[in-house]
Amino acid sequence: MEKQRIVVKVGTSTLTGENGAPNFRTIDKLAQVLSSLHNDGNQVVLVSSGAIAVGVNKMHLPVKPQDVCMKQAAAAVGQCELMHIYDKCFGEYANIVGQILLTAEDIAVKEKRCNLKNTFEALLENGMIPIVNENDSVSHAEIESEKKIFGDNDMLSAIVAKLCEADRWIILSDIEGLYNGNPKEEPEVELIHTVGQITEELKQLAAGSGSNRGTGGMITKLEAAEYATLYGMEVHIAHGNDPENIYRIMEGEAVGTRFIPVNNQPG
Ligand code: GLU
Repeated sequence: MEKQRIVVKVGTSTLTGENGAPNFRTIDKLAQVLSSLHNDGNQVVLVSSGAIAVGVNKMHLPVKPQDVCMKQAAAAVGQCELMHIYDKCFGEYANIVGQILLTAEDIAVKEKRCNLKNTFEALLENGMIPIVNENDSVSHAEIESEKKIFGDNDMLSAIVAKLCEADRWIILSDIEGLYNGNPKEEPEVELIHTVGQITEELKQLAAGSGSNRGTGGMITKLEAAEYATLYGMEVHIAHGNDPENIYRIMEGEAVGTRFIPVNNQPG
């Protein structure tokens, strides 16, 4: 199999249980799968949510706070805990991780963007696995603003994938992929296996469905997929409860929903 640069995004609902406690089984499996792909010669970047949920749990807060400062405090605690877990799990598989925390400004300002790109290159060229999240503890605007650029990590990971010139971008969520209706309300809906063009009709379909927890939904995934496919990346949305779905995707199996890169589309 051709060696690839892969960006994998995993959401809060995949990484944590209802109460925000880390889902060690999934996190360990994820570390194992990504380490295997890495050991096969691929370069891997992980974009991980979960900081706020893990922090809420670790701080023994009864629910996710509404107050921005408390959310930021929870992110500070949770991010630290998450990285501790990743460091241990990836370490078990003889891999080294590095943490990158981003705000929108780090992407928008050219000089910062160039520095960031160089950091990713240096980590990847030296065999490290970058683990990325939004810098929630400092990024007030992103947590709160209506017009957040990457508050849900879907767009953040698409932007990271573009910055790293990734070959493919995989989103692991708490849903199999994009359905032709709302699977929570209509049991007969079917999974859409392949998407050529992301049309307005498709976006309307996605607006009605989504994942259960975390801040994103299917619509933010679709918008991010639109951005990534435009830049020539193959995009997959698959269920995160089995991180081995990543192997299946790499081997060309029909798992979840696949979005064809724009430059590969027929016509
Ligand atoms: N950056 C947020 C976190 O790590 C993302 C929250 C989410 O979309 O699940 O908690």
